[in-house]
Formats: sequence, C-alpha cells, structure tokens
Amino acid sequence: MSTPLPSFPTQLFINNQYINSGTPDRLTVSNPYDDSPIPHAAHAASADDIDAAVAAATTAYKTTWAATTPAQRQACMLRFADLVERDAERLAVLESLPTGKPVTPTRMFDLAHLVEVWRYYAGWTDKISGETYPESNGVYKIVRHEPLGVCAGIASWNATFMYIGWKIAPAVAAGNCFIFKPSEKSPFGSLALGALFAEAGFPPGVVQIVNGGASTGAALAAHQGIAKISFTGSVGGGKAVQDLATRSNLKKVTLELGGKSPALVFGDVEVEKALGGVCGFLFNTGQVCVATSRVLVQKTIFEKFTSAIKTAFEEASASLGSNPLDASTMYGPIVDKAQFDKIMSYIDIGKKTATLLTGGERKGDKGCFIKPTIFINPDPNSPIVKEEIFGPVMVIQSFETEEEALKLANGTVYGLAASVYTSNLDRALRVSSALECGGVAVNSPYLPQVNTAFGGIKASGQGRELGKYGLMEYTEAKSIHIKLDVPKL
Ligand code: NAD
Repeated sequence: MSTPLPSFPTQLFINNQYINSGTPDRLTVSNPYDDSPIPHAAHAASADDIDAAVAAATTAYKTTWAATTPAQRQACMLRFADLVERDAERLAVLESLPTGKPVTPTRMFDLAHLVEVWRYYAGWTDKISGETYPESNGVYKIVRHEPLGVCAGIASWNATFMYIGWKIAPAVAAGNCFIFKPSEKSPFGSLALGALFAEAGFPPGVVQIVNGGASTGAALAAHQGIAKISFTGSVGGGKAVQDLATRSNLKKVTLELGGKSPALVFGDVEVEKALGGVCGFLFNTGQVCVATSRVLVQKTIFEKFTSAIKTAFEEASASLGSNPLDASTMYGPIVDKAQFDKIMSYIDIGKKTATLLTGGERKGDKGCFIKPTIFINPDPNSPIVKEEIFGPVMVIQSFETEEEALKLANGTVYGLAASVYTSNLDRALRVSSALECGGVAVNSPYLPQVNTAFGGIKASGQGRELGKYGLMEYTEAKSIHIKLDVPKL
C-alpha cells in the first residue's frame, strides 16, 4: 500500500531553482506508520553539486547579499516566517510522512518554533554592534563583528524545522549565505522551504538546500569554500565532521550531539507536579536530544513516583498506533526500522540488567511502534544507563542524598541538559550549578528558548545555538586600529 501524497519537490534547491542532482543517487524512504514505501525519492547531492552550491553562495555573499541593508535582510526574514505560517499544514505532512512525527506536534512545536526563531533573528539584523576604545598612544580602536561568508548546516531527522531556525536564521541575519543538508531520513519538509525562501525575496544563492546522506555531509564538512559548519547529530557523525573541517580549511565547527540527560526528583516536590514534567520525555516518542531518559528519584518518594509514572506511560501506550497524519495523534512510531531495531536491542539488554516496570515490546505488527518502556533499579554500569538510546526507554534509579544524586547525574560521557524537581530554591540553584551540562530546567523539562544559549558540554558538543550566543557564532571579530597622528618618517 502506498501513501497518497501532496505534490512536493524532490530535487536540490540551488541558486533559487530546483535542479536535478549530478548523479542518479536517490534517497528512498518509507512511512514508519505502516512500512509503506513512499513513491518519491529525493535527489542526493554529489561533491560536484556541493561545488555548485558553494559557488552560488560565494557569488551571492560578495554581491547581492553584501549589498542588502539590515532592513532589507530583516524584511526577507519576516516574509519567510509569514510564508511558513501560511504553509504550515502542508509542511507538517511532508515532514511527517517519512519520519512518523505526528502533524499536530510538528505544527504546534517545530514549525511554531521555526517561525519564532526567524522573527527573533530578524530583529537582530540592525543590532549587531561592535566596540570602540578610547585613544591610547595615538591609536583609536574599533572592533567590528563581521559575517564569515558561506556557512553550512547538517541536521538530524528528529526536528528538522527547528534546526532550520537555529542554524540558518542567525547566519543570514549576520550577513552570511547558507547551505543546509537535512537528514536522508527526512528529506521533504525542508526541501519544500526552498520555494518559500525565493518567494520571500532572498536573492539566488543566499539559502540553498541539498539533500544527501553522510557522503554529502562529508563533502560540505571538507569544502575549502565553506567558513563554518554547524552539525546536529550523533557523536560519531560530529567527530567525523570536526575531523574533516580540521583537515580541510580549519573551518569553525558547532556540534550539537547526543545526550543521556538526567531528571533529579527530590522528595520535597509534589509527585503529581514532577510527573507532568518527567512524562514530557515521551514527546516525539523519546527521540529528542534533551529528553531526560534517566530519572533519579529520592528514596522517600520512589514507590509513589514509580507507581504513578507506570500508569502514565501505560495510558500513553494505549493511545499509540494511530496515524501520525490524524490531527488527534500525539505519539508516533520510531523513525525507521534501523532505529527501531537499535532501540529493541537496548530493551533486550535492559531485560537482562534491570527490572522492567512497563512496556518492553513493540506495539502491533506493522510499522515501527514501541510501547513506552521503563526500567528500574538497573545495574549502574548497564549500557541502558550509560548510552543514548534515542527512543521511548526510560531508566529510573533511586538516591538518598543530594551528593549521591549529583554523582549519578554527572556519571555519563554526555552533558547536554538536565531537570531538577524540588520546592527548595537553594537546592535548585546549588544543584543547577553542580550539574555538568549546557542547560538546566527547574521543575520542568528543558525546552530550547529563543533567547537563551542552547548546547552541550563533554561528548554532547561544543558551541551554542539560539539567542545572542547563536548569532555571534556566525560572526568573527575584526579589530581596526587607526593611528590618528601619522608619524613623519
Ligand atoms: P547521524 O549522526 O547519523 O546523522 C545526522 C546528520 O549527519 C545526517 O544529516 C547525516 O546524513 C549526517 N552525517 C552522518 N554521518 C556523517 C559524516 N560522517 N559526515 C558528514 N555528515 C554525516 O544522527 P541521527 O541518527 O540523524 O540523529 C540522532 C542523533 O542526533 C542523536 O545522537 C541525538 O541525540 C542527536 N541530536 C542532537 C541534538 C542537539 O541539539 N544536541 C538535537 C537532535 C539530535
């Protein structure tokens, strides 16, 4: 059975046109809701196609985009945000079909966030200020923040629209041109945005979209004409990109990588309040980099908490299995068979190294649905405690003291985000500062905010996106020293 589709582009978007790739390579995907093949395949960009995109971006950077005023850049960005809002329904379907991400959360969260981020950075176009220093020894000094040139982004499949906000919007606001590669698992939604960039008035070459797999990503990372690359994906992919960037032209690199984020639930919090936040883990079926897949619960409330979360997960499981294209669907399948198999292999490990509280099996016999799963009291060295699973599998451990909770929380190679549930403000601040990660939420799940820095430490990455910090990553400081009194020779 095949899925009926709206019409949409499958070619590469280069120089404001949809064009065939230079190779016969195509990206085939299927619908993880029912395993049906999607009868359209996206073109995969070759190294020659990447050369063409970089050439178009370089020309645009030096001519048309360089000649725009901040107000003109702002107008294009605001128009683009309006057009995304206009087409949100169609865009959500295109993203949902190959990924299984339900259309309603895609519209309500991913696309709404994209729009918010583009409007936010549109406001920055005329606010990128520099510094001046008082004259000393006859030298007057200025520091300007200048754009880098041609920048690129490589993204994972789990929230492509959000990454189009985080990576492209600050880059073009600062005056750069951008080449974006979505994941081979989610090629259609972002590609459809190409036409909207052109309609919004972006000159040819300013924003381009090239599909492809790891080899297309590698061609971007190794390109001599690209000044910066921002990568969202696995630790292995990030290391490969950083290595290629170093060995080519030492381009700047931002890495947004995996996580094994902890939620610390202290005994002074109302269980019902903490539960609402901790269950946010199931958003996008646990396929979220900041999802708190490790929950550490103080012994005084452990029984009450685990009993309540078991019920909540079983309710979510009961609603699992409906079509992601239905407006009422909130939980979808796993993105594809490869990811499904990976998660099931971790569930097998969990059954041997922990106690299964709920779930632990697929749901139904078609598609890639896995029941929301919880393991409790695991062997602390089990891979289900230490490694990222990127699916609906949570591990709950108990602790007695704050010190013990922090030791467990900081006990993985990752350092992306964390949540702390407590009614004690002193503790919230103390624990937030002792947690080894890039972002902490108190009494809620950690959600990226448009104006605060987002990113990880340790194996979760380097560099920041969003807010002023994300903007500055697309500029470089240039110092200009003016000798006021030129000495005679
Ligand atoms: P992945 O690394 O397999 O792929 C991500 C992207 O990188 C894809 O576009 C892929 O084509 C490309 N790629 C893969 N290997 C490459 C290489 N050697 N050179 C250049 N490009 C390459 O990751 P995935 O399975 O798509 O995504 C899941 C991972 O992403 C998880 O680890 C998750 O935690 C992480 N992630 C991190 C964040 C964050 O902001 N920190 C957000 C979402 C996902």
